[in-house]
Amino acid sequence: MTNETTERRVIDVVSLYPNDMNIYGDSGNVLTIRRRLALYGYEPVIHHYNQGDDWPEHVDMILGGGGQDSGQSKIIDDFFTRADLLRELAADGVPMLMICGMYQLFGEYFETSEGKRLDGIGVIGAYTVGQDVRMIGNLVEHSNDFGDVIGYENHSGQTFLREGVAPLGHVNAEGRGNNGEDHTEGARVNNVIGTYMHGSLLPKNPKISDFLIAKAAERRYGAFEPQVTDTAKAELDRLEHFAVEARRVAAS
Ligand code: GLN
Repeated sequence: MTNETTERRVIDVVSLYPNDMNIYGDSGNVLTIRRRLALYGYEPVIHHYNQGDDWPEHVDMILGGGGQDSGQSKIIDDFFTRADLLRELAADGVPMLMICGMYQLFGEYFETSEGKRLDGIGVIGAYTVGQDVRMIGNLVEHSNDFGDVIGYENHSGQTFLREGVAPLGHVNAEGRGNNGEDHTEGARVNNVIGTYMHGSLLPKNPKISDFLIAKAAERRYGAFEPQVTDTAKAELDRLEHFAVEARRVAAS
């Protein structure tokens, strides 16, 4: 009994505002992390954090999704009550993945196409300005850290990175990415990734999933030490096959 308790390798994952910030299948990212953690022999605990909820005692990873401008307005007050905490966790190396609407709010501000300004928490040195034309479509980007990354974008906000902020990647000629002008897409600051990639992103890009998982395990347990059974290995191989196939289709 005692042994069992000491051998548990829990990873606490916060799903940030799933009620209002979860569009184009972004909840698939949470499912992917939960499944892959289990396949690697960790025990995932998912905390669904919505406005007014208690903040979990332990946090190893945070996942945030996209949402309409209205969803962003709905969560903004509560989000600011958590701003200091989120900044501290980001500075402390907690891996985070913020998609689209939450990516915008992790930047400095988002000014909507109607001229309404929402301040962000400034974890990512970037600002976003809404325009009338939406940027919509499949996206392939090349990332120095993760190779080819594939997904789907749909946003009106044009995001501009401050000087010195690394993009997640660069989009091919057809992709719009951060702003449709400079070919950058997303941003990476410490272990925080912001991106416009829906899709869901993580099932199609296992390297990013494993980056988030490895950083979470290293921070909590000192090292990422997967314990993979034969059945789990077969499933990981199948998931890899799916991702390779998705990448092949996206590139064609
Ligand atoms: N409301 C934001 C925009 O359109 C975010 C959209 C989204 O998260 N897909 O720019």
